[in-house]
Amino acid sequence: MKILIVGGGMGGTILANNLARRLKHELKQGKSHITMLSASEQHMYQPGLLYVCVGRMATDELYREQTSLLEPEIEFHVDPVTGFQLDQNEVTTQSGKTYGYDLLVIATGSRAMPESVPGLAENSVNCYTEANAVEMWRQVRDFQGGTVTIAVGVPHKCPMVPLEVTFVLHDYFKERGILDKVKFQYTYPIGRIHSLAPVGEWAKGEFDRMGIQYETLFNMKEIDGANHVVHSEEGTQSHYDLLVAVPPHKGMAVIEENGLGQSGWIPTDRHSLKMEGRDNVYVLGDTTNLPISKAGSTAHFEAEVLAENIAAIIKLGGPVRDYDGKVFCFIEAGSNRATYAMFNYTQPPAPRAPNRAVHWFKMAYNQLYWASARGLL
Ligand SMILES: Cc1cc2nc3c(=O)[nH]c(=O)nc-3n(C[C@H](O)[C@H](O)[C@H](O)COP(=O)(O)OP(=O)(O)OC[C@H]3O[C@@H](n4cnc5c(N)ncnc54)[C@H](O)[C@@H]3O)c2cc1C
Repeated sequence: MKILIVGGGMGGTILANNLARRLKHELKQGKSHITMLSASEQHMYQPGLLYVCVGRMATDELYREQTSLLEPEIEFHVDPVTGFQLDQNEVTTQSGKTYGYDLLVIATGSRAMPESVPGLAENSVNCYTEANAVEMWRQVRDFQGGTVTIAVGVPHKCPMVPLEVTFVLHDYFKERGILDKVKFQYTYPIGRIHSLAPVGEWAKGEFDRMGIQYETLFNMKEIDGANHVVHSEEGTQSHYDLLVAVPPHKGMAVIEENGLGQSGWIPTDRHSLKMEGRDNVYVLGDTTNLPISKAGSTAHFEAEVLAENIAAIIKLGGPVRDYDGKVFCFIEAGSNRATYAMFNYTQPPAPRAPNRAVHWFKMAYNQLYWASARGLL
C-alpha cells in the first residue's frame, strides 16, 4: 500500500508518525510505504506567533527541521505539489516529478489573506506569519497610546486568536505602565463577541472587567488608512491608532487551481474525513470544508482517527472509528491566566474561570508540541 501525505504541518506530521508506528512491520517488510511531500524543510509551530507579536518568544523558537520530527521510515521530500490527478491516483510536483499512490491524504493547511479586504494589508498589523508578527511587535513596542482596534475577518484561522491577541496586548501595555493611555476597541462580525456562544459569554465578563469595549455585527468592508478608520459592511465605523487584524483566510491556491474545492476548502465527510466522491482520498486539518474550528488541535484529533483507520484498512480491511468533531483550544486570558474550550459536533464548550495552572500548562505545551508532532503525545 503506497500512502502519500501532501503537507508536512501539524496534521500531516502527526498522521505520518502515528501511522509509521502502527505500520512498523508492514513498512519494514516493504508491504507499505509512506511518502510525505511538503513545501518547506522547516516545521512551524504557528501558535507561537501569538507570543512573538508581543515580544515574548523569539522567532527561532517557532521552528524545527521537518526531518528531525519524522520517523525514519517516512520518505520525505520538499517538493510542493502543483497538480492533483485524482483519476490517475497521481500528483505532480514543482520539480516536475510524478508520485503515484494507493491512498492520498491532503493536509496543505490555509493562508491568511489580509489583501482580500481593501486597505487592510497596508494599514494593519497581524500575527499570522513570522514577518507580520515581527512587524506587529515593532509597532506595538513603539505605540505610546491611543485606540487599539481589533478587527476580525471571516473565516479566520484559530477561533481563539481574536480574544487571545486582545488579552496579550492588554497585558503588554499594563506591564509597560501605559494601560491608562490605551483604549481597546474589539469588533466582531456576528451578533456576539465570539462564534461559540459560551466562549462569547465568558469573554464578555472578562472584557467588561478589563474595560475593553466591543462592537458586534461589524464586518470589515474597507480601511481608510489616511483617516485611520475601518468601515464596516453594516455602515458603521471604527477609528484606530493601531489596527490589529485577524485576517480572513483561504485554503491553498493549489487546491482551488486543481478544482478540488472552492476557496481552497475541500468537501470532506465530517466523520470518515474522506474527500467527497473519492474512496482513496482523505483530507486533514485546515483545508477541509468542515464547519469546525481551523485549529491545530482539530488537525491533531483528526490525524489520530485517520492513522487508526488507515492502519485498520490495511490490517483489518476497513476503518474502525469516526471523527466526532473534537477540538481543544487553550485561551490565554492575560495576567498569567488561561482557560480552555473543549467541544465536538454535538457538545458545546463550557469555559471555566481562567487560572494560572492552565496558563502554565499552555506554556509547557508550547514546548511539548514537538513531542506531540512526533506522535508521542
Ligand atoms: C497566530 C496563530 C495562533 C494559533 N493558535 C492556535 C492554538 O492555540 N491552538 C490550536 O489548536 N491552533 C492554533 N493555531 C492554528 C494552527 O496552527 C493551524 O490550525 C494548524 O497548523 C493547521 O494544521 P494543518 O496541518 O492543517 O496545516 P499547517 O500546519 O499550516 O501545515 C500545512 C503544510 O502544508 C504544506 N504545503 C502547503 N502547500 C503545499 C503544497 N502545494 N504541496 C505540499 N505541501 C504543501 C506546508 O508547507 C505545511 O507543511 C494558530 C494559528 C495561528 C496563525
